[in-house]
Amino acid sequence: MFSKETITLKSTSAIIVAAGSGTRMKSSVPKPFLALDNNTILYHTIQRFLPVADILEIIIVTSSQLLTSECLRASIPKSAPISIRTIAGGKRRQDSVYNALQAVNPDSTIVCIHDGVRPFIHPDTIARTIKLCDLYDGAIVAVPSINTLKQIQDQLIVKTIDRDIIWQAQTPQTFRKDILINAYKQAFRHNITGTDDASLIEQTGGRIAIVEGSPWNIKITGRQDLFIAQSILDKGAI
Ligand code: C5P
Repeated sequence: MFSKETITLKSTSAIIVAAGSGTRMKSSVPKPFLALDNNTILYHTIQRFLPVADILEIIIVTSSQLLTSECLRASIPKSAPISIRTIAGGKRRQDSVYNALQAVNPDSTIVCIHDGVRPFIHPDTIARTIKLCDLYDGAIVAVPSINTLKQIQDQLIVKTIDRDIIWQAQTPQTFRKDILINAYKQAFRHNITGTDDASLIEQTGGRIAIVEGSPWNIKITGRQDLFIAQSILDKGAI
């Protein structure tokens, strides 16, 4: 007799990258470890992943110097229902993701990559990117461009880019694991650097869907973003 309980197999390894140096913030503490509402930014980001049913494990990538630090220890929830591991990152964001890909659980079939400095991602949005991997090679969160974009050269406008076809990529970016690993191997083989993960899969001809994200999913890169992030929390906006 089978039990009536349904056993859901968790499919996804989440990689949260937090190994950047933080030069733009002009702070000695790397951005993911700056304080937001009495916790680190990274702490808030990790909390967003815990309710997502498909997630099997979370891998946090930080610089090797911070692996045993108090700020990393304080960022990791004490009684998380899933495994949370930490590994050392690399020089470029791409190197940090690649290191994490070597460490993902062999049972996962999907990998969801998120910037540690985007603490306001909605768990439902993460789940939607995972679901779309049933239909596509991957799915990323993006928002329509609200600004008019200019292509420039030597401080002169070359042309205006049609705004209606431009979206701004955010994270999470979620992919079928085998396709992602193959794209990363190819990027290293051909010396390609991508500023996001999707761009590496685009190079291999992969089909990647868009999930419309939210302007609240800000990336904390400068002092002004930290101010906005604290205001979002103070006003209970999300
Ligand atoms: O530099 P960028 O703004 O693209 O960083 C996005 C995220 O990638 C940040 O969370 C940062 O900590 C992470 N990163 C990383 N390893 C690097 C560079 C950036 O994990 N070498």
